[in-house]
Amino acid sequence: MIEVPEQAGGIYVHIPYCVRKCPYCDFYSSVDHSSVPLFLECLEREIAMVGDTDLVFDTIYFGGGTPSILAPEDIARIIETIHRYFHIRADVETTLEVNPGTVTREGLAKYRRAGVNRLNIGVQSFNSANLEFLGRIHSVEEAASAIEWARQAGYDNIGIDLIYGLPGQSKRTWLADLNRAVEAEVSHLSCYILTCESETPLGRDVDTGLTKMPDDGAVRELFDTTIEFLTNNGFRQYEISNFGRQTTDGDDANYSRHNQKYWSFAPYLGLGPSAHSFRSPERRWNHRSIETYVSQIRAGKSPIAEKETLTREQMIMEAIYLGLRTTRGVDLEEFEKMFKIRFEDVCEPEISNFKHEGLLKLTDTCCALTPKGLAYHDSIAARLASKDIM
Ligand code: SF4
Repeated sequence: MIEVPEQAGGIYVHIPYCVRKCPYCDFYSSVDHSSVPLFLECLEREIAMVGDTDLVFDTIYFGGGTPSILAPEDIARIIETIHRYFHIRADVETTLEVNPGTVTREGLAKYRRAGVNRLNIGVQSFNSANLEFLGRIHSVEEAASAIEWARQAGYDNIGIDLIYGLPGQSKRTWLADLNRAVEAEVSHLSCYILTCESETPLGRDVDTGLTKMPDDGAVRELFDTTIEFLTNNGFRQYEISNFGRQTTDGDDANYSRHNQKYWSFAPYLGLGPSAHSFRSPERRWNHRSIETYVSQIRAGKSPIAEKETLTREQMIMEAIYLGLRTTRGVDLEEFEKMFKIRFEDVCEPEISNFKHEGLLKLTDTCCALTPKGLAYHDSIAARLASKDIM
């Protein structure tokens, strides 16, 4: 029996619509919005179906897709329904992902009145040529306006997403993006490396040689630059891609409460097409099709496509893989309590090698990657978790 520490859960709502597909994106979404009314009806039914749970939730996250395609009245109704069917803590963090090309000053104010208290704005870049390469529907000016309007609407928890590692991107142009983000005085920054998924237009262009992605060394330089620049400019890294603005109390108030659930075995419930859920030791996910999702729910059936129960070994691998994504690292006491085995017993002798190379630090209480080690997270985590522990 694995003893996962009790934690409040998170609710993720997948809004599966976009204005246009970005060529690098493999999230599930449709540009045909004709099914929106049906989808909303089914989402309410899904909430009612799964609402009878003993879990208490302290985050609600609207992701997608492009949640800001929905009218504030629709978001208000979904939030109301969630509050009606679930135990939601009074201090809930309710985040809406926002595409700068879909918002107005008035709309952002209305989302706030609907109960949204955190915005995550998909800026991606403050450089017009980069936005064009990424196929974004918004301009640099619209991104700046969205941030400004969000502040005017009274949001004090604003995050923005940026993407780097574009073909030909120099350290200078990436620093210009980071600088704009710091100047915007947002409380949270997610900086993602552009990845090529094979089933996307970008992936195909790379496969056929039409687009050449930067090499690992160039990307690593931008990764190191990101950490150095943001830590020198008032941000604290708490996960490979995520940074919170430092508070005067030195606490984690600006970290995304919802995202942290994904790295700590907290339970989360996914609603909507393709959404994933986790409650130890089970993971499940909904059908990745609006049509199937709608037809299942209208027939009174569950929209779950598949379920899997994680074995103890899989949970150990995840604990290592996910824990090392965070700067807090793997909590040794928690690990031993959960798996009845010492972290060091699973990961020796690799720990010593990585420590020696300055990629990892081990204290009496935790094991975490150094900033240098974070750049090699995947290969380090794979080697640490590779020991036969059956
Ligand atoms: S707007 Fe976001 S979800 Fe939609 S296609 Fe672009 S990256 Fe994907």
